[in-house]
Amino acid sequence: MIQLPQLPSLPVRSSNEVGPDGRERFYPEWKCFCCRDSGIVDPHLAKLVVADYNRDRDRLPLCQKSECSAFKKWTGIPFENLDTRFTPSICQELDRIHRSDWHQTRGKLYEQAKQFVKDVTNAKSIRLRDRTTAEEVISQHRHQDVLNGWGVEPYTDEEKEFVAACKKALDNA
Ligand SMILES: [Zn+2]
Repeated sequence: MIQLPQLPSLPVRSSNEVGPDGRERFYPEWKCFCCRDSGIVDPHLAKLVVADYNRDRDRLPLCQKSECSAFKKWTGIPFENLDTRFTPSICQELDRIHRSDWHQTRGKLYEQAKQFVKDVTNAKSIRLRDRTTAEEVISQHRHQDVLNGWGVEPYTDEEKEFVAACKKALDNA
């Protein structure tokens, strides 16, 4: 048994694209959003096709998007470990879905956080029902993001400030 090291995170290459609010935000530069250049369809995307897909149990769904050659990384893996039913058109669509989700989810989360902080700070005493609703919106989103595996975490300092402000506002409400 060895002591596992604690390594710093290594973000993928990214471009800072400008969001609807005119601010720059993180956007990953995977060539293929179906498999994130890994050759294996992302589990949360695979679930859109195989509803009860379980990556710990099921064959690895091979990405076959036409312009994506990442599947080559998996040559040599015994065929019975791979799921080759994800056709190029399926992978193309999964790529499109993931790309548009990246654009939309981040924008939405940011807008909601902004609105939430505004609501809470505007109301000196917030009714319990409202607070619960606001809390639910945030927790549902976080929950959904985790489920989807999008990993929408605050990246920029400004987004981090919003999340911190949300937590503070909830504590004080
Ligand atoms: Zn791919």
